[in-house]
Amino acid sequence: MSWPVLSVKDLTITYNSSAGLVPAVRGVSFDLAVGESLGLAGESGCGKSTLANSLLRLLPEGTVTSGEVTIDGQDLFALSPGGLRAVRWTTGAIVFQGALHALNPVQTAGRQVREPMHVHETVASDDEARVRSRQLFERVGLSANLLEAYPHQLSGGQRQRVLIAMALACDPQLLIADEPTTALDLMVQAQVLALIAELREESSLSLIFITHDLSVLTCVADRLAIMYAGRIVEQGPSMDVFQNATHPYTKALAAAFPTIGDPASRKAPSGLAGDPPTPGALPSGCPFHPRCPLAEDRCRTIEPDLRSSGQGREAACVLI
Ligand code: SF4
Repeated sequence: MSWPVLSVKDLTITYNSSAGLVPAVRGVSFDLAVGESLGLAGESGCGKSTLANSLLRLLPEGTVTSGEVTIDGQDLFALSPGGLRAVRWTTGAIVFQGALHALNPVQTAGRQVREPMHVHETVASDDEARVRSRQLFERVGLSANLLEAYPHQLSGGQRQRVLIAMALACDPQLLIADEPTTALDLMVQAQVLALIAELREESSLSLIFITHDLSVLTCVADRLAIMYAGRIVEQGPSMDVFQNATHPYTKALAAAFPTIGDPASRKAPSGLAGDPPTPGALPSGCPFHPRCPLAEDRCRTIEPDLRSSGQGREAACVLI
């Protein structure tokens, strides 16, 4: 029997905060096949990182979840602490944004790359771990000399590559990259994106890549899922969604990028007024209606479900 690396069904995540229950993710479903890449996009506060963290059960204590997450055929929410430890790093690994905060400042980069190999006993000895960490550094474009460097001695791009090497240390099937290039300058961002694309090409690594930048996702993702107010509001093949968005929110995100060589689009970039709603105070009906240029009266009372909007595509809008 074969199954997707990751299957998410009707996932709902609610934070239990001092202000009350805060629904951060609402009824999200998707499958990720072996070697497939899914890009999650949307503005800050739309639930992307909460969703990413939930896929390895990295949510704060007291967070309420419902629905199903199956990773490599295992029910994530039913795993014992030991089972969960076995899944992290070896089946699924995560690359966080802001590598300086994600790395231990008092340990060398090499030691941090070797640690998961020892914890998960994927190597027989420290010598083997050292050989593998050198190979991983070479693979992510870092000199082996930097294995003995501390995080503060590395540039932002080098630190992000160390995080990728760490995530690959136990040869996972699934890599979750949460805004891994957001803090990098454009040149380094392009290098890291090229590296991730190469890693996918040379292995059957499945990837979830999160960003607010749709143009980045067209480089690394086979499919796009656009999130707004904790839900997926549009999904489909990445270039198709980017170039022919159907949901008004996706259209606004895609239009926010000026067309290179077109002075008119540079002088009058298309923006979207306002901010996404706070998860604890969602408007009635379609949560996008206060910002939507196409909103109708019925949008204030109906929250549309995803429905087919073309070949392999879905969108949640009353106009579709
Ligand atoms: Fe806009 Fe209405 Fe569609 Fe929501 S349902 S995106 S408010 S047109």
